[in-house]
Amino acid sequence: MNEDKDFLTLADLDTGTSCIITKVHGRGGFRNRIIEMGFVRGKRVKIIKNAPLQDPIEYEILGSHVALRRSEAALIEVVREEDAANVNAFEYHGTLPHDAEKENAHKLLFENSIHIAIVGNPNSGKTTLFNQITGLHEKVGNYAGVTVDAKHGRVTHDNYTLDFFDLPGTYSITEYTPEELYVRQHLLKEMPDVVVNVIDASNLERNLYLTTQLIDMNVKVVIALNMSDELNKSGAVLNHILLGKLLGIPIVPTIASRNVGMEALMDKIIEVFEDQDPDARHVHINYGDVLEKKITYIRSLILKNDEIGNRFSGRYLSIKLLEKDQHVHELLKTASNLTEIDNAAKESIEQLENAYKEPVRTIISNAKFGFVNGALRETYKEAKVDKHEQTNRIDAFLTHPLLGFPILLIFMYLMFQGTFTLGAYPMEWIEMGVEFVGNWLGNILPEGWVHDLVLDGIIGGVGGVIVFLPNILFLFFFISIMEDTGYMARVAFIMDRVMHKIGLHGKSFIPLLMGFGCNVPAIMATRTLESKRDRLLTMLIIPFMSCSARLPVYILIISAFFPHHQGLVLFSVYLAGIALSIIMALIFKNTLFKGQNTPFVMELPPYRIPTLKNTTIHMWDKAVQYLKKMGTLILVASIAIWALGYFPKEVNYTQDYDSQIVQIENTISDEAEREDQIQTIEYEKASEHLEQSYIGRLGHWIEPVIMPLGFDWKIGVSIITGLAAKEIVVSTMGVLYQTDEETQGVEGLQSKLQQQLHKSGPHVGEKVFNPLVAYGLMLFILIYFPCAAALAAIKKESGWNWALFVMFYTTALAWLVSFAVYQIGMLF
Ligand code: GDP
Ligand code: MG
Repeated sequence: MNEDKDFLTLADLDTGTSCIITKVHGRGGFRNRIIEMGFVRGKRVKIIKNAPLQDPIEYEILGSHVALRRSEAALIEVVREEDAANVNAFEYHGTLPHDAEKENAHKLLFENSIHIAIVGNPNSGKTTLFNQITGLHEKVGNYAGVTVDAKHGRVTHDNYTLDFFDLPGTYSITEYTPEELYVRQHLLKEMPDVVVNVIDASNLERNLYLTTQLIDMNVKVVIALNMSDELNKSGAVLNHILLGKLLGIPIVPTIASRNVGMEALMDKIIEVFEDQDPDARHVHINYGDVLEKKITYIRSLILKNDEIGNRFSGRYLSIKLLEKDQHVHELLKTASNLTEIDNAAKESIEQLENAYKEPVRTIISNAKFGFVNGALRETYKEAKVDKHEQTNRIDAFLTHPLLGFPILLIFMYLMFQGTFTLGAYPMEWIEMGVEFVGNWLGNILPEGWVHDLVLDGIIGGVGGVIVFLPNILFLFFFISIMEDTGYMARVAFIMDRVMHKIGLHGKSFIPLLMGFGCNVPAIMATRTLESKRDRLLTMLIIPFMSCSARLPVYILIISAFFPHHQGLVLFSVYLAGIALSIIMALIFKNTLFKGQNTPFVMELPPYRIPTLKNTTIHMWDKAVQYLKKMGTLILVASIAIWALGYFPKEVNYTQDYDSQIVQIENTISDEAEREDQIQTIEYEKASEHLEQSYIGRLGHWIEPVIMPLGFDWKIGVSIITGLAAKEIVVSTMGVLYQTDEETQGVEGLQSKLQQQLHKSGPHVGEKVFNPLVAYGLMLFILIYFPCAAALAAIKKESGWNWALFVMFYTTALAWLVSFAVYQIGMLF
């Protein structure tokens, strides 16, 4: 696994170079031996001989020569001597100390860093704790390969630099979900120095189950007994000191939401890291004589391979093998006796399952629960009164089989209404700001293409998107509050039965609902789903939730071609989207995501008062994401579309518009009349320019493809510009059909649309739009290519492959649906 590390090790250095040890990884006997030999932090090592691919490597340390295997050397983290000198040049003046005292100083000069992984059940307060500890030092990082966020934050405490990693919440560290695997990979590959296991004190049994897996892994753990306020309030009593001794893991009570216990936690982390805590020890969970014998045997086979034993607990690997864990093989692939190990495991499993008539996995997890129960029996006294009484009373109301739905509807209504009403004010300010900047730039920039690029391309495009920022912030504000209070879990609970019918989980309901506002935050909200499969499936159907940007297009078309039953037609378009999402979800469930559904606990956490800090951090995160990721993409897309419509600048017009204008100027005396006519000619000119521009040619080029839908090239151009953002369709039509919304109003554009005739093709001379074409176009706009920003969000959450997939499948589907509507409709 050397290829995965991002630090320099003893094995990487060339003959003749010197370095300083910064950290010794590895475990057990290896670690003790290596430390006894003098390989400790701050010591200087010289590489005497390191030939590529040759084992062992020869070193000089403390004046004597030692040989280390390559696999051992790879566990010792170092910095080059010259780098160390450079970092601290002003302290050293270029010379390195060698006597003990100076060496000690040197040791202190180096940052003592501890890598800490935070693991625990969802909702146990990991993120709250992480935020409290790291505060404003927090840095958000998205780690390659998974869409699950792992946040990294750094603080200094007592001469130590503490690097905290907030990992996704899991109930277990097996391999059932990507989140679990992610946590596991982090623990095994990154080799954190200390694991902080955050435990919800009001739900000890389930939370401690995860702890038993950490015990198996034999890593250094500190338990943060979080929500201890709730424990105390409930009247239950826990002897956490005794529990810590029993588990071999020191326990620090915390109340993350009130910043209580954070210092003590950090002190304890350092103590455990330095091996100073007497309670920290490795306990064995007893799996019963029969199983233990097998574990010991397999372990002995595994430990024939030093390079594996130096890194991982042999006991852990054996247990995993007996659980038929698939991923553990990756860790064993270097074993010289792999077949022997495999056969032993297979044989043992067979014997055990014959004897117990149960999968080994079940035997093991039963033993784990037994261990937890036993430990709790000695240390935990339950409260006499039902601690969840209040929660139960609220739940009876909020998750009532009948009342639950109308209450949910009211909350949803408040959320959307709140989002748009509250968002309207800052939206206006931003609009004004954009306009102000536009005017100001318009005045100082000389006429020419730069002027047009900045005003029409950049400000027009990006400005149009930035105005949605307040909406997004408010939406996330409400969502964050719903999450923190615990209501979100209830919503998922209410909707779960319905969502299961289409292969989704109750939690998918929220992102889908948000999609009606804007697909971008909806896609970002899929993060609240625990399993990757659910996230992807939800993301794939979110685009069918008709977002508010599509509304202007529908309004234009409906008022032009469906003068009667306008509301009904509009509603039918939205319904069509919902119907499609259900159909597609069913199809995906039975094809792409066949049989991958992992059920998971739908817990109902107690209701809590949200904290301002959490909520603000949530909103801030979203704002930064939106501005950064969407801003760059939208910028490029708007510039591209602008340029395609702008160039080539010089085209051969079929009419001499300029002299027509001059003529009007000279002949017509009534000012209003004159302005009007000039305006008309200028629009004709602009329209012809657009037709001959690259984007116009593109429209003509795709005309054969969209002809079967009853569309002409102008519709083609509108569709293409709609790729950037769907509301652009309306403004493009305005230019193409030679109207200006401001001077002639929407009605002008509507009558133009009604009068459009086919200029070529089989239907030449006929009207372009009829109700069929119009309805088909609305469906096309609904279904095809979710805008560039939504696609960027999908790419960010799940990678390029899925983004491209969404792009193509939605467009193909849009074509098919519009084709069906038009062709079938034409039969009647
Ligand atoms: P995570 O899923 O483990 O990251 O959990 P969060 O950090 O998102 O916390 C879940 C909820 O528990 C939030 O509403 C927090 O405000 C709340 N919370 C966190 N720590 C405590 C605590 O010590 N006491 C109480 N009463 N609530 C807490
Ligand atoms: Mg969290």
